[in-house]
Amino acid sequence: MNQQLVIGIDLGTTQSCTAFFHDGQVEIISNDQGNPTTPSCVVFVGGNCFLGENAKNLDVISPQNTIFDMHHIIGRQVEDSSVQFGIKHCPSDRNDQPRANDQLNRYVKTYSAEESSIILLTKLKESAETYLGTTVKDAVITVPACFNDFQKRAIRNAAIVAGLNILRIINKPTAVALAFNMKENICVDQNIMVFYLGGGTFDVSILKLLDTFNFEVKSTASDMHLGGQDFDNRMVDYFAGEILRKHGKYLKDNPKSVRRLKRACEEAKRSLSTNTETTIMIDSLFQNIDFSSKITRARFEDLCIDLFRTTIKLVERAIHDAGMSKDDIDQLILAGGSTRIPKIRKLLEEYMQGVKINCDIYPDVIAAKGAAIKAAIVNGQFEEPFRRIVLTDTIPASLGIETEGYRMTKFIHNNTRIPVRVSKEFITFSDNQRSAVIRVFQGEEELTKNNNFLGQFELILPPAKNIKTHVAVTFELNVNGILTVEAVNQDSGLSRRVIF
Ligand code: ADP
Ligand code: MG
Repeated sequence: MNQQLVIGIDLGTTQSCTAFFHDGQVEIISNDQGNPTTPSCVVFVGGNCFLGENAKNLDVISPQNTIFDMHHIIGRQVEDSSVQFGIKHCPSDRNDQPRANDQLNRYVKTYSAEESSIILLTKLKESAETYLGTTVKDAVITVPACFNDFQKRAIRNAAIVAGLNILRIINKPTAVALAFNMKENICVDQNIMVFYLGGGTFDVSILKLLDTFNFEVKSTASDMHLGGQDFDNRMVDYFAGEILRKHGKYLKDNPKSVRRLKRACEEAKRSLSTNTETTIMIDSLFQNIDFSSKITRARFEDLCIDLFRTTIKLVERAIHDAGMSKDDIDQLILAGGSTRIPKIRKLLEEYMQGVKINCDIYPDVIAAKGAAIKAAIVNGQFEEPFRRIVLTDTIPASLGIETEGYRMTKFIHNNTRIPVRVSKEFITFSDNQRSAVIRVFQGEEELTKNNNFLGQFELILPPAKNIKTHVAVTFELNVNGILTVEAVNQDSGLSRRVIF
């Protein structure tokens, strides 16, 4: 059987990784520098584009030309609070959709997060082709469980432009569960919790193993803005405060210095996972200041403790939403680079008393391995019994439309299994109403203004004197979690179908 290879891609906030499955095992694909992970960072200088390790070295010199953190920006509207958040933390632009500016003489070209993702995905595809010595067309890609349909669509579109056909989009915790089961063979009926803390996002999911290779996602709780970068930022604020006190200088006005300090803080943070104290040293950091300072692990933990505790609160919520108690969890799997932080492990151990904690020595590549396994399943590479690995995923947030009084009428509740299809019938507000506007929202709140607006469309209704008419609305979520909403007016047969 001469099958086309399908690769697994973990497109991370801070680092990306690819893997493939062959001869019964998963192999990580190294990039051209021989590294298993590639920084998710793109820099544009002088009409040239640098990415991965090369970009990471340049971003300190040219922060305005850099797109990092594209995960938080991709597929979002400018008004969206996440984009505002992105703008705040992204030195490349302040007033608009975050973009990297490349100034070529007087001509300025701007690049969006989407364009940067295309460049990154193209690079990952090319690296994989070099490594494998064959062309790669198809892939399975992981996204944070908290990604909405716009974000998934944006990733899929970026992949298409990069020449990749995305066969499936799977959530990171689901990918981790797949990879773990491959290695450990979990017992049937066990409940496993995946605790995924990466560079910029946090997801916790509870999955149940139904039969030999059949998982069901029971619940997911996420925070779109919680990860390693937030811990780095806390340390940056701490040292910026120290510089202000010692030298009377406000470092935060200088993006280049902030970026250099941030880089040093990330390294210090990593060091504090194995050492109890570390030193930061940066020559001429700012206005001739050679900065050097010490930080202890205890101090770092103090700076971030509220963020660490948030993860435990979400663990609690996931257990509650799954209708379980702590004792029902049989195994706990840690994944994502930030789960190397000892305090996070300690808090989790204390909270989950007695539950077996599994952590791989390479927690930052497990999701890519899971994506590769899913790729092999989709590609029909498994012989029985592996062929039976089925994954039943769930949606992290409820979906619905706005009805009378700006209320949210939910069609699909959070933690419902996908694929799923739900229809509801509505009667128009007034006689002879000429159109129905379907406004789609995501979230748990009763009033739509407190939820996430996903989009809207209008269904034109036929003239009908003095009668109200029926409109049937159907929500359909496919296996990739992509949403289609259809509105049908039975009287006229008129309908509209929109993919979100
Ligand atoms: P993502 O896929 O979201 O980019 P990863 O799983 O690759 O995330 O993890 C990257 C994050 O893990 C970064 O914020 C990085 O600083 C952090 N990290 C990696 N190693 C360590 C370590 N030894 N101690 C603490 N944090 C670490
Ligand atoms: Mg990753």
